[in-house]
Amino acid sequence: MSPLLEARDVSKSFGRTRALRGASLEIGAGEVVAVSGPSGSGKSTLLHCLAGILVPDAGEIRYGGTRVDELDEDTRTRLRREAFGVVFQFGGLVPELTAQENVAVALMFGGARRAEASRAAMEWLGRVGADDCAPLRPGDLSGGQAQRVAMARALATGPKVVFADEPTGALDSVAGEEVLGLLLSTAREHGTTVVLVTHDNRIAAFADREIVVRDGATTGSPAVAR
Ligand code: ADP
Repeated sequence: MSPLLEARDVSKSFGRTRALRGASLEIGAGEVVAVSGPSGSGKSTLLHCLAGILVPDAGEIRYGGTRVDELDEDTRTRLRREAFGVVFQFGGLVPELTAQENVAVALMFGGARRAEASRAAMEWLGRVGADDCAPLRPGDLSGGQAQRVAMARALATGPKVVFADEPTGALDSVAGEEVLGLLLSTAREHGTTVVLVTHDNRIAAFADREIVVRDGATTGSPAVAR
């Protein structure tokens, strides 16, 4: 079976910094994969390329066989809204909107009407244990609460893939494990593919498979789906 996500010999530089130099990986539908490696090794850059946020300088990115790196920006934005959910380290929530509105807006981008989006947003906040955050703006949330809200937003749209960049990075380890556990159990229940960037071995251990990035390249055979 062909992989759901694929990177082939991907390179990306920022000025003179070569963040990626020939990274390759394959991820199958429904897999929970940790992308690990030391800080600065290129993990986030690889995640951003896979999610169609960044376009590589060279190499190929495929989602369901489609060359994501060849799509124009509008099409990549649409793909992200329709098929992907992202959870970044510091939440990435819209500061002017309440938690409930942050989740609802993601659903409205997907075509839901305001009332329905609002109702579903509340349901998802409940599922991740963040009901009490609904009326609060991101500035009034703790790090853990913001991450739960970001997770509700990422999962609410029923994405095929969730990209999580150090989703527990701003938390202590107990809260971190709980939030991660929530993400993974929800994803496994729905057959959602998860790509989890982390520098923490304990977190990588929660994944089905680990892909190690060093100096901008994936190392060894584990980069390819079994
Ligand atoms: P990791 O996620 O493994 O910590 P990153 O992908 O964030 O690594 O970064 C890889 C390298 O690219 C680092 O040297 C980092 O400083 C650099 N880098 C990443 N993003 C940018 C950017 N937007 N502008 C300049 N340099 C960047």
